[in-house]
Amino acid sequence: MSNVIASSSTNVRRYANHVDGAPLDASGSEPIARHDPASGRLVAQYADAGPDVVDAAVLAARRAFDDGPWPLLSGAERARLLRRFATVVDGERERLAALDSQEVGKPLRLARGDLEGVVAQIEFAASLAHTDHGSSWTQLDTGFVAYATHEPLGVAALIVPWNFPALILSQKLPYALAAGCTVVVKPSELTSSSALEIADLALAAGIPPGVVNVVTGYGPTTGQALIEHPGVDVVSFTGSTATGREVAAAAGRGLKRVGLELGGKAANVVFADADLDAAADAAVFAAFFNQGECCVSGSRLLIDVRIAEDFVATVVARAATLVTGAPDDEATDVGALIHERHLDKVLDHVAGATEAGAHLLIGGARLTGGGLADGAFMAPTIFGGVDAGSRLFREEVFGPVLAVATFDGADDAIRLTNATDYGLSNAVWTSDVGTALAVSEGMRSGTVWINTNIDGSPALAFGGMKASGIGREVGFEGLREFSSSKTVQLRRGDRALPFPRAATEEGR
Ligand code: NDP
Repeated sequence: MSNVIASSSTNVRRYANHVDGAPLDASGSEPIARHDPASGRLVAQYADAGPDVVDAAVLAARRAFDDGPWPLLSGAERARLLRRFATVVDGERERLAALDSQEVGKPLRLARGDLEGVVAQIEFAASLAHTDHGSSWTQLDTGFVAYATHEPLGVAALIVPWNFPALILSQKLPYALAAGCTVVVKPSELTSSSALEIADLALAAGIPPGVVNVVTGYGPTTGQALIEHPGVDVVSFTGSTATGREVAAAAGRGLKRVGLELGGKAANVVFADADLDAAADAAVFAAFFNQGECCVSGSRLLIDVRIAEDFVATVVARAATLVTGAPDDEATDVGALIHERHLDKVLDHVAGATEAGAHLLIGGARLTGGGLADGAFMAPTIFGGVDAGSRLFREEVFGPVLAVATFDGADDAIRLTNATDYGLSNAVWTSDVGTALAVSEGMRSGTVWINTNIDGSPALAFGGMKASGIGREVGFEGLREFSSSKTVQLRRGDRALPFPRAATEEGR
């Protein structure tokens, strides 16, 4: 049953929550209005779910877990339903991409790529549902065998941010379902449409009511009520490090499993012997993809001091060719930022970098010309000579701002890469295998790309070190985030017990 309550001639979508397979409106609270950040137009309204709605959603997920059938289905059956889910989502890719493009402000052309990723994640998770298995030990002692199974943890709370609404959801949801969990999703109140539509598609694919629930609302109220709910067993969160600490504390109080995928400050390290043409393209892509609102943005470019001048000139020249504009224009490379307050925050970083003595090489300001006046558009920006102690070098900007610095030798490159609290991803470009391996060993991050950037596959685990988080998403490890192991031990024949039988009989 669709969560869309109304979609009027003005094309404003109005949604209810999705609870137990049906729309559930939030009574008594003002709906949340989402304005397209590129045009300022009202495009969607979501319910502001209070504690009663959160409670109903968790209870629906609880029933679907405790009474089944979802966790009781065979892996093969869950895999079959997940494959059907992937097929149904595949059929709606263009529509879902348009929703994310409009609500995030990202180019439609690139949002299509997000949706391809969503389908790939669901398909891969389906393969895990079918092939996952435990372990056995038959050699530990005579007449003794043991085996370990992986059982679903229960009800999972999935907290999804606004930068990749459908894609980040797909890094959590199908893995939770493959493990046998039931879920309550809390999308960002800025970008809730695709999660609500995807919950409908799960139902249409035959995934039973109550297995996938979505509550909409604000993070500090609806999100907090969800993660603190005693019916939730595991929390999977993507967002800022500051909020991640609060989520971890709340999960700690409830002794819940928690996975945190937080911010990043990735370095893109380019040695003089690299394929410089490819490295320059990748430097521009990694910095400005998704307007830089990306946890794996290559927001720091570290260049071998021997080639710095020419290489920076090439990167700046290529950045100058990027088209910033309306998300639905096929020519657009860089869209609008998520909202005005975020644009102000990015501009504050720009002002701070200038004060700290960095050299502005391109951009540095809001864009208002050429029909962009009503949106939160920011020019792709590059600073050279960025000091390793400065805010711009160490903090996550989450906008189209690239910080450039130079290094002298592999040890210096490693030192500079690690000079931030974050540790999500980094990249190194070189034609020397020894250099590539040495630098990747020294980089303190969950992912290292060699001669590529923002690359991957659903098979490859993703997550951070240091302030970038705890746990891993996607791949086989992503499945394990939602399961708990059980050890079963079996002994036959004589058991040598340490209490002599006579002594215990006398004691009776
Ligand atoms: P937040 O960390 O506040 O929000 C991320 C998600 O968590 C959203 O869905 C939000 O809901 C929800 N949330 C917020 N507070 C709570 C809470 N107390 N309990 C449960 N859920 C909560 O990030 P912001 O949107 O404020 O962005 C700020 C910065 O965070 C960005 O500039 C960027 O640096 C970083 N960020 C990193 C992301 C990543 O991919 N790692 C993604 C997004 C942001 P709602 O939006 O409805 O409030």
